[in-house]
Amino acid sequence: MKSFRKELTFRTPTRRALLNITPQVESALAESGIREGLCLVNAMHITASVFINDDESGLHEDFEKWLEKLAPEKPHSQYLHNGSEDNADAHLKRTLMGREVVVAITAGRLDFGPWERIFYGEFDGRRAKRVLIKILGE
Ligand code: ZN
Repeated sequence: MKSFRKELTFRTPTRRALLNITPQVESALAESGIREGLCLVNAMHITASVFINDDESGLHEDFEKWLEKLAPEKPHSQYLHNGSEDNADAHLKRTLMGREVVVAITAGRLDFGPWERIFYGEFDGRRAKRVLIKILGE
C-alpha cells in the first residue's frame, strides 16, 4: 500500500469564505500516483471546515445566512469563549460544517456523486491556515 501526504495553505482576506478546493485535491491525487484507495481531506484548525456540497453561489449565501442564525458572530460578548479571543462563533460554525471528508478513489479519480465538490470553509480567516490531504491505496 502507498501513502501520500500533502498540506495546502489558505489565507483568506475575509473572516469567512468558502473555497472550492477540488482542483487542488485532484492535483494531489495525480501527484500521488494512487489509482485505488481512499482520500482524506481535513481542516487542521478548529475554526475551519472541509465539507462536500454543491458549487452553487446561492447555496453558499444560504450557508452563510444559516450559520449566522445558528452561531451569530456578534455580539462577541454573548460567548464565554470570547475574552482574549473573538472567534467563538467560528468554533461553532466549524462544528456544524464538519472537520473532514473521505472520498473513494477509483481508476485514479475522485469517485464523486454527480454534484459533489470539496470545499474549505473558513470562519476565522485573515491568517495562514492549513488543510491536510492524506491518500492511501495502490
Ligand atoms: Zn477560539
